[in-house]
Amino acid sequence: MRITQATLAFRIFLNNLRPMETCDTPACQSAREIFRELEEYYDEHNLYFQTIGSVLHAADLLDVDHKIKLILSQPKNEIMVHCPVEMDDGSWRLIKGYRVQHNNVLGPYKGGIRYHHEVKLDEVKSLALLMTMKCALARLPYGGAKGALKIDPRALSRDELERVTRRMTAALGSNIGPDYDIPAPDMGTNAQTMAWMADTYINFAESSKKVTARGVVTGKPLEFGGSAGREKATGQGLVYVLDALLPGMGMALPDLSFSLIGYGNVGSWTGRLLQLRGSRMKAVMDHTGAILNEAGIDAEALANYVAETGGVAGYPGAEPINEATFYSTPVDLFIPAALEQMVDLQHAEQIQCKVLVEAANAPTTPRAERHLLEKGVEVLPAILCNTGGVTVSYFEWKQNRQSETWDAALVDERLQKIMHQAAQRVLEMSERLDCNMRLASYAAAIEHIAKVYEVRGVFP
Ligand code: GLU
Repeated sequence: MRITQATLAFRIFLNNLRPMETCDTPACQSAREIFRELEEYYDEHNLYFQTIGSVLHAADLLDVDHKIKLILSQPKNEIMVHCPVEMDDGSWRLIKGYRVQHNNVLGPYKGGIRYHHEVKLDEVKSLALLMTMKCALARLPYGGAKGALKIDPRALSRDELERVTRRMTAALGSNIGPDYDIPAPDMGTNAQTMAWMADTYINFAESSKKVTARGVVTGKPLEFGGSAGREKATGQGLVYVLDALLPGMGMALPDLSFSLIGYGNVGSWTGRLLQLRGSRMKAVMDHTGAILNEAGIDAEALANYVAETGGVAGYPGAEPINEATFYSTPVDLFIPAALEQMVDLQHAEQIQCKVLVEAANAPTTPRAERHLLEKGVEVLPAILCNTGGVTVSYFEWKQNRQSETWDAALVDERLQKIMHQAAQRVLEMSERLDCNMRLASYAAAIEHIAKVYEVRGVFP
């Protein structure tokens, strides 16, 4: 829809009517100021507004140039496609897709594609912004992007998924490419989805570019240019971050207890890898229910059970519990590894943990985070904790470009180095600015981006 001057004026009028005293945190104030300047509609409950609010607050702490704040406040491109797809029963559906390219000053746009039936543009915008922050924090040569298809992948057959994936790839056309924008798996997508995307893209590529064309996506199957260690990468990266940061908090991995929200790729790998390191998984919750076993739930057996049944409910090695019990179960580490904004103020009041480790993107609302920090819980931010995924994506892209194959040990060694350096950057920034880890992680990312803008300049 084209936004007319009248609509815009009405939105700004509405903004001014809103009870501003409801959010007077520095993050809200920073975002409100910029949104007014951009003449953009804002809503403090909106995920994008919240995410950019924290980023701008960090930018204010660093005192970066105003133009950097303006540039980061909106994505460079927001692409929307509508894909007509034939279902197995002969009916047709028009499926909405998004690709938001937030920033590419550090290199090609990079970020996953998610399939979810409730996905919205503002969510994709937030996730794209977080990808810019993630790649900058880890010093990867990438910008940030995110894509989505508004479908429930569990409700589609394999053939239907293949058709919609290929159709979306064709619709995106030259908006993606190994030197321009490189998608990867995210919620509801996997290596098979990436194989269909790569195959479709290669079919359209000029013959002289076919060899490098498979670098258009990462997270591909091993047999088709994927990297060793990519599947477990997000969980593995999180474990390396914990190795780097827990000792400073007077803790260490063996013998810790943890609970997890979400048992998909990130949750189940995090569970298995933490168990391998001697920690105990006490409780798990997903879309099917919540389970608890004080003595420990076998992470490997649960992963097999979920692969067969689709969820944790009914797992024989644990007791079913309700949501309130799940949140209030005492653990050392509480790890949300599912959707955004799952941990709200009410949950934060129930949570009894020492450290909340954000495996998912933006799982904690600002109010919940403030409450947790006030009660002495450390909150380790997503752009640090879940950067292992895109880091091994970078390794895959590098291997594809150089026609190399790295073994699993080399991938782990390089991932560990990058995660430790990123964790160190966050620690140093949090000391330098005397701020919490989330602000420190954004500040460490923004400082790098600002330096690159300084040397590159803003064209023209
Ligand atoms: N979807 C993952 C993320 O949110 C991975 C992105 C990528 O590998 O490009 O970080």
